[in-house]
Amino acid sequence: MKNLNIAIIGAGTAGLAAASLLAAQGHHIHLYEKVSELEPVGAGLLLQPAGLAVFEHLGVLEHALTLGTMVSGLEGQLSGGDLLINSHYKQADPRFYGLGIHRATLCHVLESKAREYTNHIEWHMQHEIAELEQRDDSVSLIGTTQGYSFTHRCDLVLIANGARSQLRPQTWVKLNKPYPWGAKWIIVPECEVLNPQILHQFYHRSNIMMGVMPTGAVPNQPEQRLSSIFWSLPSNQLESFLQTPKQQQQWLHDVSKHWPKVAEWLEHLIPHADHQQAWLSANYRDVVLSKLGEGRIGLMGDAAHAMSPQLGQGANMALLDAWAISQAVMQISQSNQEFNHEALWQRYHELRLSSVRFYQFFSRLLTPFYQSNHAWTGPLRDLSFRAMYQLPFFRKEMAITISGLKTGAFGQMNYADIARRPIIQTNELLVDLKFD
Ligand SMILES: Cc1cc2nc3c(=O)[nH]c(=O)nc-3n(C[C@H](O)[C@H](O)[C@H](O)COP(=O)(O)OP(=O)(O)OC[C@H]3O[C@@H](n4cnc5c(N)ncnc54)[C@H](O)[C@@H]3O)c2cc1C
Repeated sequence: MKNLNIAIIGAGTAGLAAASLLAAQGHHIHLYEKVSELEPVGAGLLLQPAGLAVFEHLGVLEHALTLGTMVSGLEGQLSGGDLLINSHYKQADPRFYGLGIHRATLCHVLESKAREYTNHIEWHMQHEIAELEQRDDSVSLIGTTQGYSFTHRCDLVLIANGARSQLRPQTWVKLNKPYPWGAKWIIVPECEVLNPQILHQFYHRSNIMMGVMPTGAVPNQPEQRLSSIFWSLPSNQLESFLQTPKQQQQWLHDVSKHWPKVAEWLEHLIPHADHQQAWLSANYRDVVLSKLGEGRIGLMGDAAHAMSPQLGQGANMALLDAWAISQAVMQISQSNQEFNHEALWQRYHELRLSSVRFYQFFSRLLTPFYQSNHAWTGPLRDLSFRAMYQLPFFRKEMAITISGLKTGAFGQMNYADIARRPIIQTNELLVDLKFD
């Protein structure tokens, strides 16, 4: 097996996971990250069974379970409390669950794993990559660190630098567009008035949506369980949200008209937070590429397929990309011939492309039913979801979709195939058969 020199750009979810998985195969990894320290800011997120299968494959699931909160499903209430969405992972498979996790915890778990590979991962913090230059025999990264420019040559580059990546080969970009709606979010002590093992969403028409998500704990305060609150808004209203006590009173009044119990909890909670600073903004974009890799360059995570977080798949897809790249590299580098890049991307596309296309399509189809000002989208959603949730087939398909395992309208990945640890060179079997 040939050991490769692989550069990964971005130490986020995809980059950290891929670094560990490729280092475990003996490849030499150069991890380039523009910030000096990993201090991820961001709301909690929900890891779906697909992402947890990658965690199991990486050997970090137990660590994540000590800090995250197990989630059994998603419940979406209409004004007045009627359940429109009642989707539980057990409808897909009785062993499935999700994990509500703080972004700092997700980063901590993945970084701790990567730090174990001291001989195989070189960390280049505070190194920002500006450009790539590809030749027949190598690819060069050109960037800056602390005001100095540098160039680094390697066999393969994986771009994992997030939704706003400027490094994507421009001829691959089919769509790269900001989404017109975003969200305000805040992290608070765990919500006591709602079931802490459910992701709760609240909808009124398609222009009001709120979420309360179990978020687990951060590593330095493992006893303090947390929740994330999301409030959806058009992007041009994000900056003016809750700027004055009067606006806050009006907002609480609006929430109490639809969900009085939650408004009461918020009323007690929000005055204790420095709300001017604590509510942060999230903007989304849609990115669609014609391919995920060619030559000596591949893409992973949001850089490859950013989307609105309506289906809660971004981090899961980033983890699945890292898993798929590592599987493809392992299979191709085990052959005795020269490393075949064409075969590498063919395998990566086989493992990822249909699933990526499915979630991109579904996310762009569904999001306007939750975040838009159209008069017809809310009532149509309420009518059709109510009818469809009567059908066991639809309930199961929705649960599989949310689990992140879909590869198309009728296909799905198998949790055990992803979770299974690879057998690298030796015959030592590292398989955890929990899900077999
Ligand atoms: C409000 C909100 C809620 C979400 N909820 C969920 C959810 O419930 N479930 C879910 O699965 N996903 C969710 N997501 C999506 C998820 O957070 C992202 O899809 C995921 O974190 C993407 O990971 P990534 O590794 O691709 O990119 P990132 O985590 O963004 O990492 C990119 C890294 O690259 C670095 N970088 C950037 N440019 C350069 C450069 N030029 N050189 C070097 N380094 C660079 C950055 O500093 C960063 O560290 C949510 C997103 C938002 C905004």
